[in-house]
Amino acid sequence: MLSALSNLLPNPVLQGITAAYFKVAALRNIGFRGTHSNSISVAFSKMRVTVLPALSDNYMYLITDEATNQAAIVDPVAPDTVLEAVQKEGVQLTKVLTTHHHWDHAGGNEELVKKAGSSLDVYGGDSRIGALTKQVKDGDTFKIGNIDVECLFTPCHTTGHICYYLKDPKGKSAVFTGDTLFVAGCGRFFEGTAQQMYTALVEKLSKLPDDTLVFCGHEYTQQNLKFAKFVEAENRDIMKAIADADEKRQKGIPTVPSTILQEKKINPFMRVMMGSVQRHASCIDAVSTMQAIRKEKDTFKA
Ligand SMILES: [Zn+2]
Repeated sequence: MLSALSNLLPNPVLQGITAAYFKVAALRNIGFRGTHSNSISVAFSKMRVTVLPALSDNYMYLITDEATNQAAIVDPVAPDTVLEAVQKEGVQLTKVLTTHHHWDHAGGNEELVKKAGSSLDVYGGDSRIGALTKQVKDGDTFKIGNIDVECLFTPCHTTGHICYYLKDPKGKSAVFTGDTLFVAGCGRFFEGTAQQMYTALVEKLSKLPDDTLVFCGHEYTQQNLKFAKFVEAENRDIMKAIADADEKRQKGIPTVPSTILQEKKINPFMRVMMGSVQRHASCIDAVSTMQAIRKEKDTFKA
């Protein structure tokens, strides 16, 4: 079991901290074959997260509070896949958590609300989100069963982007970062500035506990790590992350979840205050470095 477990966990840090309380089930155990990856299920104390692949590289996440069996879905772009998972797991879906209004995240909301057969609260930080019933802002809180959810306003990729930070009753936490923070990368600055992404990544997400699990909106890890290596050729954590990600993707295993600590070690956009990243960018401050490396990444060919 342990060797199977370690194959599915994203990095040594996570393996170390999670072996005691994680159960990870491969797709065949829960019956899904996603579009680009196997589905995996991550359980930690009273909270379970099922990773549901959608479209060519998106992830949806079914979050269940095991005490009450209440569930929420993050960015349900493929409603039929969501409803199949809800039925298979026998959970009660009550909430939709939308990270931002882009169609590949919010585009399934209306259909899901129609097909769900029970009323759903649809959360989001942007009036452009379909079927929105609960518009949230920074610091707003609500619950999924007994699990506390805090909304972190992280505008830049879009002006209304929200990350959802979840604490389960035993204090283990997870953050659902949409297209703001990716494993080893960040979203494009479509509607915002480098200063805003700096605030989101360095002043907000980096301040979450190191062992917070990071569940992002896309499987972009391998491409992101190529850029990370280009920025910091000497960073050994990046080399190790590349080997881990390559092995997982070869087997169709998602590279999520990462952790906040891991991102602080490998993600150049979380590391814009580091001398090594600033030297690469020929900048002497963190926000200019953020601006420079995002611009470079926009046209980067591995
Ligand atoms: Zn987006």
